[in-house]
Amino acid sequence: MSSVLSYVQPTANSPWGTYLSQVDRVIPYLGDLARWAETLKRPKRALIVDVPIEMDDGSIAHFEGYRVQHNLSRGPGKGGVRFHPDVTLEEVMALSAWMTVKTAAVNLPYGGAKGGIRVDPKKLSLKELEKVTRRYTSEIGIIIGPHSDIPAPDVNTNAQIMAWMMDTYSMNVGGTATGVVTGKPLHLGGSLGRVKATGRGVFVTGREAARRLGLDLRGARVAVQGFGNVGSVAAELFAEAGAKIVAVQDHTGTIVNENGLDLAGLVPASRTDGGAVSFKGGDVIDNEAFWEVACDILIPAALEGQITAERAQKTKARLVLEGANGPTVPTADDILAERGVLVVPDVICNAGGVTVSYFEWVQDFSSFFWDEDEINVRLDRIMMNALNNIWDTADKHKITLRTATYAVACERILMARQERGLYP
Ligand code: GLU
Repeated sequence: MSSVLSYVQPTANSPWGTYLSQVDRVIPYLGDLARWAETLKRPKRALIVDVPIEMDDGSIAHFEGYRVQHNLSRGPGKGGVRFHPDVTLEEVMALSAWMTVKTAAVNLPYGGAKGGIRVDPKKLSLKELEKVTRRYTSEIGIIIGPHSDIPAPDVNTNAQIMAWMMDTYSMNVGGTATGVVTGKPLHLGGSLGRVKATGRGVFVTGREAARRLGLDLRGARVAVQGFGNVGSVAAELFAEAGAKIVAVQDHTGTIVNENGLDLAGLVPASRTDGGAVSFKGGDVIDNEAFWEVACDILIPAALEGQITAERAQKTKARLVLEGANGPTVPTADDILAERGVLVVPDVICNAGGVTVSYFEWVQDFSSFFWDEDEINVRLDRIMMNALNNIWDTADKHKITLRTATYAVACERILMARQERGLYP
């Protein structure tokens, strides 16, 4: 049996290569279910679409779009849509597979999927952005739906884009289908708490991990890479708990202040064109120096492959909270484990977003909406239970939290696979 696919050529540290190595590490803990493990190494379905639009200047532009459904054994596909100039099929495959593991790790009744368009949205006007979104939605309309695959926001996509996706799908099927996407605006079947849910989940799992490590959050120094929806919300919650945000890196550069950056000033500054470095309450340092800043907690909340072996050697953190998907390459993972740095892996750490997406989907179907407290209490409970279960598994087998998360999740996925049986 071979897991080499003809249509991707992953390298050891590329996203799909990273994912394959994470799967290989869990196989010894799967018992008889290991028989089905090859399932995890092959996406069920991958769709590549051409997205042509007429630009504002009258020219025709083409963009490459993808939707990958990695595994649907436990339920409909679930996962975001990313707009980024570097998106590739290989990346979307890995992101879809991480969604399979993530939804199983927190026990949501979903499979894993992901989508993306190879486009720089900053270079599009609002009208062009809408056209790209609508044409892409129409093209992937043959495989998405409230009961088959439910997209959501990811890097560079937001509630407005979800509204256009919902509307396009609805126009094509002839009825308002709010359940086809999550992360929608509140007026259109969106859920309270969804925008902050991923950052909140990073905080909840981080708080619990810190408690178990005996790391007091009051005065703890936190460094955050990526200051979008995930990084900035997590930073605010850690600051509220008494931690100091000593370093922030975004696409404009890195800003530090060992006494703690004032988030009331930094967050609005980071939303301007000047980005985080336009904030005057800290010193701007070289981007590579971010990785050796004196800190207790490191939160990579940007893109994949950021924690390399070299950076893993440098970090001063005791705890790494993976707000991004796939931020740590396998060699770096080993170095962090050897150095005694605890990593709360992406597939549990950033699962707060998809958990509240699930709440949104449930609320849409029942047409009954919950208040924010109810959402946050339920989110906390699901994340804490999942983390505690994973922690016990890690202790039992003396494995990392990442491999333990894969053990818990892959058992659920492959058990469902086995119970359903192969068709025909
Ligand atoms: N894009 C988010 C993630 O990577 C959320 C996906 C969702 O809500 O379906 O988990």
